[in-house]
Amino acid sequence: MTQRAKTSLDDTIAAIATPVGSGGIGIVRLSGPEARAILARVFAGDTVPLRLTYGHVVDPASGETVDEVLAVYMPAPRTYTRQDVVEIDCHGGPVPLRRVLDLCLAHGARLAGPGEFTLRAFLNGRIDLAQAEAVADMVAAQTDAGLRLAVAQLDGHLSDRFQAVRARLLDALAWVEASIDFDEDEVPPHEVAADLQFAEERLSDLLAGAERGIITRQGIRTAIVGQPNVGKSSLLNALLRVDRAIVTPIPGTTRDTLEETLNLHGIPLVLVDTAGIRADTRDLVEDLGVARSRAALAQADLALVVVDASRAVDDGDRAIAALAGDRPAIVAINKTDLPVRADARGLLSGAPMVEISALTGAGINDLERAIEAVIFGGQVVASDAALVSSPRHRDVLRRAHTDVSTAAEASQTGMPLDFVSIGLRAAVNALGEITGETVSDTLLETIFSRFCIGK
Ligand code: GDP
Repeated sequence: MTQRAKTSLDDTIAAIATPVGSGGIGIVRLSGPEARAILARVFAGDTVPLRLTYGHVVDPASGETVDEVLAVYMPAPRTYTRQDVVEIDCHGGPVPLRRVLDLCLAHGARLAGPGEFTLRAFLNGRIDLAQAEAVADMVAAQTDAGLRLAVAQLDGHLSDRFQAVRARLLDALAWVEASIDFDEDEVPPHEVAADLQFAEERLSDLLAGAERGIITRQGIRTAIVGQPNVGKSSLLNALLRVDRAIVTPIPGTTRDTLEETLNLHGIPLVLVDTAGIRADTRDLVEDLGVARSRAALAQADLALVVVDASRAVDDGDRAIAALAGDRPAIVAINKTDLPVRADARGLLSGAPMVEISALTGAGINDLERAIEAVIFGGQVVASDAALVSSPRHRDVLRRAHTDVSTAAEASQTGMPLDFVSIGLRAAVNALGEITGETVSDTLLETIFSRFCIGK
């Protein structure tokens, strides 16, 4: 079991588990051996296990009633953390929540760090590391598809796939190590080649779905670029189907940087309207929109290059199209409700062109379909139930895949078994970084630091 040196499981942690601000109710949560005793100190009411009980939180020092609450005590081990857990449903204002939390802290609890409840669930073996990460993904999910991936990961479907590979590699490793240490006739025969092939295939499968999974979870940063007045803000509005960006007939007057997330058939599309990015005022070619486009494209996964159909394509359009470079791009020929004078052919070779009118909404559906086609580029994945959706997992899987290939090559070319063993061990350890069997304290800190307090 991995232990974090700094974090003991022996103390009792407490935190406000609901979001900051006002709400109907807010929850103070405790986990640890003292949870029930601390509740008894501050709660005037019975605490029957697993029964939500009405009562008052009272400051024992002053006898003052702090809040009227419902409290529940959940005994270990069938709880979120596998420890004794207490939840106190308070009135959902920042002041009552803070007062109740402070009382718990004054009577034996310690303030929980980010994700520390989930960390305890992991350290106590209730969930593995990939499942713990899924908890943060569920909270952060932006679309139903993203949520489905997180649920599948939390349920352990993804972990099962990792464990199947790891178990097979461990079999192979055990045999290889035995063959190094003992004579041939002492070790039962074993097909290491079959294990390695199995692992290579499964790792390839997992990696094949990873890009789609990552996109589904994180979304695609899409920069809408083009010269002033071609209709970038109008296109943003048309895609969002609400009036979010301020559309103005005067070039270069949009001040805000606009960023909106659009749910495109389950894929979060983070749209960036470059009209808001102001160029250096000394830059007299600002009107070309080049500097602003460059800034937005720097961070983008996808470029929507907008041109104005009602006027001829010029050097400004070409300069901006050139910036899109090699990244996935689509040329949107806007204002096709007006007499068309632009010929955008050759503007961005290889990029699909879609005729639209941001004003009337014509062609917006075609544009959405083109975006999907460009993002997934023909990649077909059978099911998105248990896809790898974290870049961390993808990177580890790539490493494991390389290690397995190295081991397979060493095995096929008849190199000493030590070489096979090195590759196998590296792959086994790599996979353990995903599920948490082999994970450093630093990695745990990094992973759990992205959780909110109280989770
Ligand atoms: P931006 O500077 O690229 O963000 O352009 P805007 O979205 O602010 O649009 C500039 C002007 O073009 C506004 O007057 C819009 O109403 C107009 N416009 C935008 N899209 C269309 C369109 O599809 N057809 C027509 N006729 N006008 C449009």
